[in-house]
Amino acid sequence: MEGLMMDYPLTTNTILEYGNSAFPHKKLISHLPDGTRHEYTYGDLYKRTKQLANALTKKLGINKGDIVGTFAWNHYQHVELYYAIPGVGAVCHTINIRLSPQQTEFIINHSEDKVIFIDASLVPLLEKISAKFETVEKFIIINAPENFTTTLNNTIHYEDLVSDQSEIYEWPGLKENEACGMCYRSGTTGMPKGVLYSHRSTYLHALTIQSPNAGNYSNADTILLIVPQFHVMAWGFPYMCLLSGSNMVMPSSNLNPQALIKIMETETVNKANGVPTIWMGIYDEMKRNPPKEKLALKEYLVGGSALTESLIEGFEKDFGIEGVQAWGMTETSPLGTASRLQPEHKGLPNDEKIRIRAKQGIEFPGIEMRIVGEDGSVAPRDGKTMGELQVRGVWVIRSYFKTLNRENFTEDGWFRTGDVSTIDADGYMTITDRTKDLIKSGGEWISSVSLESALMAHPKIKEAAVIAIPDTKWSERPLATIVLADKEDTVSEEELKQFLSLNFVSYQIPDRYVFIDQVPRTSVGKFDKKEIRRLFSEGELS
Ligand code: ADP
Repeated sequence: MEGLMMDYPLTTNTILEYGNSAFPHKKLISHLPDGTRHEYTYGDLYKRTKQLANALTKKLGINKGDIVGTFAWNHYQHVELYYAIPGVGAVCHTINIRLSPQQTEFIINHSEDKVIFIDASLVPLLEKISAKFETVEKFIIINAPENFTTTLNNTIHYEDLVSDQSEIYEWPGLKENEACGMCYRSGTTGMPKGVLYSHRSTYLHALTIQSPNAGNYSNADTILLIVPQFHVMAWGFPYMCLLSGSNMVMPSSNLNPQALIKIMETETVNKANGVPTIWMGIYDEMKRNPPKEKLALKEYLVGGSALTESLIEGFEKDFGIEGVQAWGMTETSPLGTASRLQPEHKGLPNDEKIRIRAKQGIEFPGIEMRIVGEDGSVAPRDGKTMGELQVRGVWVIRSYFKTLNRENFTEDGWFRTGDVSTIDADGYMTITDRTKDLIKSGGEWISSVSLESALMAHPKIKEAAVIAIPDTKWSERPLATIVLADKEDTVSEEELKQFLSLNFVSYQIPDRYVFIDQVPRTSVGKFDKKEIRRLFSEGELS
C-alpha cells in the first residue's frame, strides 16, 4: 500500500525557496579576488538566482540536461550558479582549477560543457588550452577588472548577462533523481572520473551535515567556507547553509593563513571547514602572530586527509578551538562520517579523548559502512581487524559518468572506497591507509598514516609523508620523507627511531629518512604519494 503523503521532490530549488522564506535576512559575505568585500542577504541571492535562471535559458540557450561548467573561486556569483544551473534543470559542473592542463582539457571535453563561467583571475589557465575544447560555446567572465582583455572567444561579462533580467522565473518541474551537479575526482591515479550528483542526494546530504552529530550548524552560526566550490561542491555547504540558516562567508582567492585569519576576525566567524594543510597553516600563523583578540572561532571541520592528534591538541590547548575530523570522498558527495565525543567519554583523560577525535568517526544516517578483509568476509567491529572500507547509501555513487568502472563496486552493490580501515565496537571508523599506500613488509601490514601522524607529533617536524619502497628481503619497507619545522635544525635518524619506538614495534619503524623542503601536494593539497614514489624511483630522493 502506498503512503498518502505528498510527492514533494527533494530538489535544490526547494532548498533555495526554503532559504528565502525562512532566512531572507541571513548573509552571504564574499571577500572577492580584488580584495573588496561584498555582502547581501539570502533574499537577494534568491532574486539574483532567478535573474541568472532567466539569463541561462533565454540568453545562453541552456536546456534541461545541458552541462554548464564553472571555473571559479568561492563567492556569491558561484553560489548563484550553484542554484540557478540545477534550478533550470541543467547540471552544474564545477571544474577543479588546480589540475594539470591535460586533465582540465580532458574533463571539459569528456563532460561536454556547453558554456563555462570563469573568474577573470583564472582566465589565463584556460586561454592556453581553449582551442582544444570541443563543445564549449561561450565563456562568461566573473569579477573582471576594468582593463580586462582575453584571447578566449565568445565571452560575456557576468553582470551584463544577469543584471537586466527579470526577477520572476518559474522553476521547471524537476524529478528528485535528475542530475544537478558534477565533479571529477582529482584522479591521484589515472585520468579523472566524473561523479554525477542528483537533486535528491544533494538535498539529503546537505540536510544531514547540519545535524548535531555531523557538522552541527544552525541559524546561530557564521561559517567560513574554505573548502573550494570547485572541489566536491564545497562539501555541500552552499546548500546546507540555506537549510540551517547559517551565514555564509566566502574567501574567494584570499586563501593564505593571514588572509583567512583576517576574514575570520572581520566577520566574527564561529565555524569553518577545510583540509588539514589549510589548518596547519592557520595554526602556524596563529602561533607566530597570536590574534590580538580571541577569535570567535569555536570549531573547524576537517576532511580530505587525516586531521592529526597533534593539530587537534595544539589548536585546543593554545587557542581553545576544537577540530572535528570528517571523512569523505568525491564519490560520497563527500561527507560520510564525523568524529565527535559522546557523554560516556567525559571522564576520560585528555589524550584518550584526542585519540578518539582523531578517528575518522561514525557514519551519518543515510550511509552504511563495512570493512571487508582479504578473504572477502566482513571484518568484526573490534577496532583491530583491517580491511577495505566499503560504503553504500543515499549520497554514494552507483556508477561513474559515461563509464561504470565495475571494479569500484562489489557484486552486492557496495562502493569500494580504496581506503583501508578498522571499525571499533563503538562504531568509530579509523583510516589506516589507502589500499595503494599500505606498506606490506615481511607479510605484515604497516600503516603509513599512523607513522606520519606520529612523526608529525615530533616537535622538530613540520610534515612527514611515508611511502613503501621495494626491499629484497622484506618485499617492502617504509621510507619517511620529512620536512623540518626549522630548516636550520637537525634531527638524527637514531633520534627519530627512538621517538617512534614509543608507539611502534621495530619492524614498523622506517629504516630510511629523507629530509626535503616540502612534501609534494595534489591539486587539493593532499600529500602526493604518487609523486613521492616517482621521485624515489627516479633517484631524486636521497
Ligand atoms: P582523491 O582521492 O582523488 O584525493 P577525494 O578528495 O575524493 O579524491 O579523496 C577521498 C580520499 O581522501 C578518501 O578515500 C580518503 O583516502 C581520504 N580522506 C578523506 N577524508 C579523510 C580523513 N578525514 N582522514 C584520512 N583520509 C581522508
